[in-house]
Amino acid sequence: MRLLEGKPIALRIKEEIRKRVEELRVRPVLASIQVGDNPGAETYVKSQRKSAESLGIEYRFYKLSQDTKEQELIDAIKGLNEDKAINGIILQMPLPEQIDYKKMSNFISPHKDAEGMHPLNMGKIVFGKAKILPCTAAAVMELLRETGIDLYGKEVVVVGHSEIVGKPLSLLLLERFATVTVCHIGTSQAGRLQEHIEKAEVLVVAVGKACLIKGNLIKQGAVVIDVGINRINGKIVGDVEFSEAAKRASWITPVPGGVGPLTVIMLMRNVVEAAALQYSNLIL
Ligand code: NAD
Repeated sequence: MRLLEGKPIALRIKEEIRKRVEELRVRPVLASIQVGDNPGAETYVKSQRKSAESLGIEYRFYKLSQDTKEQELIDAIKGLNEDKAINGIILQMPLPEQIDYKKMSNFISPHKDAEGMHPLNMGKIVFGKAKILPCTAAAVMELLRETGIDLYGKEVVVVGHSEIVGKPLSLLLLERFATVTVCHIGTSQAGRLQEHIEKAEVLVVAVGKACLIKGNLIKQGAVVIDVGINRINGKIVGDVEFSEAAKRASWITPVPGGVGPLTVIMLMRNVVEAAALQYSNLIL
């Protein structure tokens, strides 16, 4: 078994991003909007700022008050969309209850969509044309690339069909000609999760339930990517029973330290990609 750690890959991709920033000759700018006070959002902001600045990306932080109305946030987003100095925009979660994240995030220009979640960018994945990708799905693809596995025709099972991970990831895997099975709550409730897990040559789990996947179900030699983050008695664990799974897997991501360190780097890569597209007017 080999441990598939995110940090060394993140370091390599950071180097690539730095080079691209140098080539741009203009410092890319990421605008980050936070609405109200939230310790969770503040932790993300701190780590995003650190990553951005280490890569030569300017991080501009905008804080709106807790009682901000949707229309005020829409106006702020539109202002940043129109500001030519801004290349990427991220709206921090969580938002106060009067604000609908999905509705708001659709106002972010698809050309400045740092998280790769705008319907236009999502739609481009279907056509194999996406340059700006949802960060976690992109992080999983980078981890798989690191293993050197040829996905062509492989049995790949994705557990979880969320908009941010499972759905876009399954399309990216199809693009690589993997045979993709997507499992979700319906699969479990029908009592059929186990039969899919057992045949997976590549297993990606993004559910958010500690030890949902028993280690003894993992196929010998499988590549296991655990996206899940669960806090159990003050400890962070994934969705896969690591100790047993590690006995069978050829590669397995640790939690924490697998997908996580790459996700924020993918955000930065999107900002640089967006800047490159904007400067070369290739935005459509
Ligand atoms: P979500 O809640 O949006 O989706 C959960 C998915 O799991 C759904 O498709 C649901 O049908 C499925 N599911 C729920 N119970 C199931 C069961 N018993 N059997 C099979 N499928 C089941 O979650 P999300 O936003 O995609 O996040 C999933 C996990 O990944 C969470 O733990 C989250 O914290 C983590 N996450 C990590 C990163 C990272 O950077 N490491 C990024 C995003 C999400």
